[in-house]
Amino acid sequence: MIEVRVPDIGDFTDVPVIEIHVSAGDTVAVEQPLVTLESDKATMDVPAPFAGLVKQLRVAIGDRVSEGSVLLTLETDGAVPAGPAARAAECSGTEAAVTAETPSPPPPSPSLDGGGHDAQVVVIGAGPGGYTAAFRAADLGLKTVLIERYEQLGGVCLNVGCIPSKALLHAARVIAETEEMASRGISFGKPKVDIDALREWKSSVVAQLTGGLDTLARRRKVEVVHGVARLTGPHSVAVDERTISFDSCIIAAGSHAAMLPDLPDDPRIVTSTGALALTEVPQRLLVVGGGIIGLELATVYDALGSKVTVLELLDQLLPGCDPDLVDPLHKRVSGRYDAIHLRTEVISISSQKSGLKVRFSHGEPEVFDCVLVAVGRQPNGLAIDAASAGVDVDARGFIPVDTQLRTNVSWIHAIGDIVGGPMLAHKASHEGKVAAEVIAGLTVEFDPRAVPSVAYTDPEVAWMGLTETAARGQGIDYETATFPWAASGRALGLAREDGMTKLLFEPGTRRLLGAGIVGVNAGELIAETVHALEMGSDVEDIALTIHPHPTLSETVAFAAEMAAGTITDLMPPGRARR
Ligand SMILES: Cc1cc2nc3c(=O)[nH]c(=O)nc-3n(C[C@H](O)[C@H](O)[C@H](O)COP(=O)(O)OP(=O)(O)OC[C@H]3O[C@@H](n4cnc5c(N)ncnc54)[C@H](O)[C@@H]3O)c2cc1C
Repeated sequence: MIEVRVPDIGDFTDVPVIEIHVSAGDTVAVEQPLVTLESDKATMDVPAPFAGLVKQLRVAIGDRVSEGSVLLTLETDGAVPAGPAARAAECSGTEAAVTAETPSPPPPSPSLDGGGHDAQVVVIGAGPGGYTAAFRAADLGLKTVLIERYEQLGGVCLNVGCIPSKALLHAARVIAETEEMASRGISFGKPKVDIDALREWKSSVVAQLTGGLDTLARRRKVEVVHGVARLTGPHSVAVDERTISFDSCIIAAGSHAAMLPDLPDDPRIVTSTGALALTEVPQRLLVVGGGIIGLELATVYDALGSKVTVLELLDQLLPGCDPDLVDPLHKRVSGRYDAIHLRTEVISISSQKSGLKVRFSHGEPEVFDCVLVAVGRQPNGLAIDAASAGVDVDARGFIPVDTQLRTNVSWIHAIGDIVGGPMLAHKASHEGKVAAEVIAGLTVEFDPRAVPSVAYTDPEVAWMGLTETAARGQGIDYETATFPWAASGRALGLAREDGMTKLLFEPGTRRLLGAGIVGVNAGELIAETVHALEMGSDVEDIALTIHPHPTLSETVAFAAEMAAGTITDLMPPGRARR
């Protein structure tokens, strides 16, 4: 018989029990949640450290507990299984979580080569993939070290990616909205932009989040080591002068902006990082690359007053996205930007005093004050000495992994941008959780039905699951239903009827296969369709789900009603009518 106690829960004491998941007489498996505790920051499940029979509950809902408080007694069969939670409790120094009334054999060390390593998990890179993996590993009781070359945690996403760009895009949206209200009876005048104040605000948003990560790491007792990490062997990594040995490793070293070849060394040629630094607003800005990052930054600088030209090698903006979703965006930015050149490439850029002279594959050369190169990102796999650990890296720097994010070396995992797939923060963080859980011994894999993509342009464009472009390319049978926002009262009231919601579904079963939305807040709206897809919903499930009125979220339900033939806000399409 053993007493199961509250494990190390950081600095929290006296936290309430908000849920009890088992009763006396229940048989529980290793890792099965026993109770849920709630602090002012988070809720925490306490998992069963061993399989066994719950003999007696020692707490009730509402009781306040701290590290070491007895939660329940558990009868095990004596041969205590070495489940992951048991290992986690043992290895993280949280032995207090379990007090054996009869001695139990020590659980085996998870060390793969006999134990004695400095850390159970070393994570290389503290972006959204890496810090998530490290925090989850620590929450599962594993002794974790997180290595980051920069002073600030958070990686590209928090420091020079998702977060600063979205802060500036909010400013851009406010400017555009106030301009547009002039034709609707309210004029604010030309905005006065204080670039220093705007930059400071953006930086304060970043600092708040990255500072929060420092606190979360400390509270979880994740050791953060600053410096450039290089693998030195299958169980070791060097950071400057220090060598850290590990049982398992998670490589989350991310990616960097790709550059065009043969460009002059000129500070007026920048990547997204330089553009987000917001040192000045160039009069004439050339954005090379009409993908998500290029168009988001074009949106920012257009609102701040730059004359923007966008160059795209392929035949549409946002290559790969369904053309009908891109059309409203193309139409709107065509009216705002100086020029959009499709099927065009940069031949050369030369530095001149008056600006950067750019020669294109078509047309006359032009001079710009700044050139933003946004032609994609490259993984950092070739810069961590992966070969020293025997980890395979492909020629481009991607590290191949299986669905448990294992590299060819089974105790070394890789996640995030460095493993390919969509280079998105939410994909990286979900992979981070899976990798940590696999190392802790949980039976999980990364197998999402959809990873949503969002361009936070104006209007936003969001898509998930199967696209029409992919379906046609792969010969997959599908049907579509679309709802034009011109028929949405909410969109009209926002003066933004330039949107459209589209669902793709399977003929016969009418199950959702994918969705695409263009319009303001499309990035928020797409989440419902991802959930619907993950839950195996068909169009009727969505149509019968009551959405609040008047909202843009209704357009998802209306598109489903178009498919179900039950729409009343428009005429039902003949082929879908029943
Ligand atoms: C301008 C811009 C906007 C973006 N907007 C979005 C968005 O809105 N939504 C979205 O989902 N995604 C967005 N992204 C993409 C997103 O930022 C990345 O997909 C995400 O950051 C990848 O996370 P990661 O953990 O794999 O790697 P990263 O965030 O790249 O983190 C890797 C970390 O590893 C560190 N590192 C690398 N090598 C070493 C080493 N040898 N030793 C120690 N540390 C090392 C790096 O310093 C970095 O901190 C955007 C990207 C950019 C550039």
